[in-house]
Amino acid sequence: MMHRIRITSGEYKGRYIGGTFSGWGLITNPEARENPPVNITGAPYALHATELGATQFFNANTEDVRAKLKALGFESEAVEEVVAPRQNYVKIPTECPHCHAKQEVHVEALTRFAQMGTPLPVVCVKCEKGFEIMVPDPIIGGPFPV
Ligand SMILES: [Zn+2]
Repeated sequence: MMHRIRITSGEYKGRYIGGTFSGWGLITNPEARENPPVNITGAPYALHATELGATQFFNANTEDVRAKLKALGFESEAVEEVVAPRQNYVKIPTECPHCHAKQEVHVEALTRFAQMGTPLPVVCVKCEKGFEIMVPDPIIGGPFPV
């Protein structure tokens, strides 16, 4: 699990820890132009106004970074990285065997050859009873109403 680190006190409360800011040349994010990152004296980090500039830290590293920040006078918290929704999926239509509501699940679109399906448990969007569907790849979302 990845985490971002956010400052929780003082004038930089709410800012995220990210890479140091070395000038305007590399800033492509319009928000950063309006509200540029502030370098931290004594640590190789900068305080970024939005999570777009935040570095993602491995869970094991967050305590180290937070200890360094605390030593420099910054209180902080680790914020769990929200995984962006995957774009590559295929919609598999299915039907509940209990209430016959049509629905679809999103299955990860893998590039390997399709194999025999594995029965996976899902919960009906309408009657909320469980049933199994055969899909060739992992389910990443759904069922959703259609
Ligand atoms: Zn149902």
